[in-house]
Amino acid sequence: MKINDEERTKKMEKLREEILNVLSCYDQNRISIVTLGSHSALNILKGAKEEGFKAICLCRESERIIYESFGVADEIIGIDDYSDLLKKEFQKRIAEMNGILIPHGSFNAYIGNLEELKIPVFGNRELMYHETVREMQDRWLKEAGLETPRVIEKPEEIDRLVIVKFPGAKGGKGYFLAVDYDDFIKKSSEIVKSGLASKDDIKNAFIQEYIVGANVYFSFFYSPAYERVELIAVDRRYEADVDGLGKVPSSIQIKADISPTYTVIGNFPVVLRESLLSQALRAAENVVEVSKKIAHPGMVGPFCLEAVFDENARMKVFEISARIVAGTNVGIPVSPYSYILFGENMYMGRRISREIKLGIERGILDRMIF
Ligand code: AMP
Ligand code: AMP
Repeated sequence: MKINDEERTKKMEKLREEILNVLSCYDQNRISIVTLGSHSALNILKGAKEEGFKAICLCRESERIIYESFGVADEIIGIDDYSDLLKKEFQKRIAEMNGILIPHGSFNAYIGNLEELKIPVFGNRELMYHETVREMQDRWLKEAGLETPRVIEKPEEIDRLVIVKFPGAKGGKGYFLAVDYDDFIKKSSEIVKSGLASKDDIKNAFIQEYIVGANVYFSFFYSPAYERVELIAVDRRYEADVDGLGKVPSSIQIKADISPTYTVIGNFPVVLRESLLSQALRAAENVVEVSKKIAHPGMVGPFCLEAVFDENARMKVFEISARIVAGTNVGIPVSPYSYILFGENMYMGRRISREIKLGIERGILDRMIF
């Protein structure tokens, strides 16, 4: 896959024009903030209400209890499946509400093809597409000059400890560690048997050097209004069953032949050793610069750099997300970093709505939408 596929660029430019046309028909004094009920919707909807917008949640029956019990939505619209968002009737309804969609992890994980979506999305959906293709992500990070774990092209070439990942934002589900080709074959057949991944997933697996160290996830926000990168929150994940392994004595681990996987269960807030922030802030600025070259107009709003700091406290970035990540939920109502920046309660959901408000006030909403 070419990072600058000319045909795709043209197609996306045309789509962008269509979206801007829809936006030009909106009454910007009556904007609604719309999202799917999952992932970080409580964060997004609460933020929308705190900034004075109407908050709309599209959710399945199974999750309705969450959004009803917290009372964060002005309106809950029932859907049978996340992909209903692509249906014309729902899109029409959202456009009638002057709705701006806030994408999160479920958009990539459960919907995929955002090209069918003809309503304004806050952010840059072309960069969200980059996020779904690991090879494109990797090139983006490298072009930004970041240190990344080595990518192993074929399972036969595994010559060190690796982590095997599957396509899409599946929150670490089914990932496994392998030390060589035989180990890869053994573990992949176990994973397929257990139903955590399909044969196709294994065929399309992304094999990456495993970095031993401290995991840190940095949630940044690029503001077109202030033309700056802001660090909003930092977290680390709580993962099953890799985080549970420490409770099992090593002698038993060996006998039980336990192979950890990385299903995400939750997140913890992190405050970084201050001198290490320079690596993260520089990395974020470089990533934003490169984003302008690979997907006009570049980064807008939330993005996350997922890193491991090794024993020399060097940051290696193994993944980038070009939208709000669920780890920002640890920063509601405020994180140490967002407090230092804003001096008030500020969290990613609210920061998104604040930027939309600034976009409306300054007449630059079209720069924030795709
Ligand atoms: P859910 O609505 O919980 O199924 O989440 C939607 C997608 O986002 C799934 O692919 C999840 O694995 C992923 N996800 C949800 N919560 C988190 C989290 N706290 N950290 C990382 N990924 C997550
Ligand atoms: P991801 O879906 O890429 O966010 O990865 C899920 C989890 O796998 C992370 O939270 C880490 O615990 C772990 N992980 C992923 N890639 C690496 C890597 N290259 N080195 C070490 N740990 C990793």
